[in-house]
Amino acid sequence: MDIEENINTVRAIITASCQQAGRSPTDVTLVAVSKTHPPEKLAAAVAAGLQHFGENRVEEAETKIPVVNEAVQPALTWHMIGHIQSRKAKAVVPLFDVVHSVDSLRLAERLAKLAAAAGRTLPIFLEVNISGEESKHGLIASNWANDAAVRTALWAQVGAILKLPGVQVRGLMTMAPFLDEMEATRPFFADLAKLRAALSESFETDLPDLSMGMTNDYPVAIEEGATIIRVGRAIFGERAYP
Ligand SMILES: *Cc1c(COP(=O)(O)O)cnc(C)c1O
Repeated sequence: MDIEENINTVRAIITASCQQAGRSPTDVTLVAVSKTHPPEKLAAAVAAGLQHFGENRVEEAETKIPVVNEAVQPALTWHMIGHIQSRKAKAVVPLFDVVHSVDSLRLAERLAKLAAAAGRTLPIFLEVNISGEESKHGLIASNWANDAAVRTALWAQVGAILKLPGVQVRGLMTMAPFLDEMEATRPFFADLAKLRAALSESFETDLPDLSMGMTNDYPVAIEEGATIIRVGRAIFGERAYP
């Protein structure tokens, strides 16, 4: 498996999807999801020009990120994309530049406090559960457009998070369900884009980013407005463990 070749293939697909949607490829950031993979594979991705990496486990990141940072130039941008247990929040702030997986007001408050204490403003994404699957983390958002109770609860949480000093809300993040047909993921991505627009209008705030699209579905996510895609297997191959 050739990581550089894989990256070139992903880039070509990004360009084609952007063309299809009348967007510029420079508006889409590729985050290489390197969870479970050793530092040497990340170094190969850096050599092929990637600068953004995503990890989902604090323990793994604690050992891997310093090793990779030591080994490569220039400085990389590290994205936390996995669920964060409260007691792990403290370790997240010094390790990561961006957190995509803020799935509760409580976690946002914790991260905001830790970032402020470190003299930083941490860019975050609010992870929303658009599909309603029980297995998924995220602020509850399924059927938000038609369910006033869902909307009220969601709006209250987002409003509170937007007020926190120490974090800057870049936008929304979601995971589509795993479906056989890539096309079937489109409504979930379109719904996230709509939710972003509605929140942006309600709170009169810019929410510039949409973090959506993985190996199985990133072309469709780009067509629906993704500004950050999180791609693992298409770059590094299958993972040995989940
Ligand atoms: C693992 C993971 C990805 C990447 O998944 P692939 O199918 O390997 O592209 C993206 N986002 C999140 C939140 C993940 O946990």
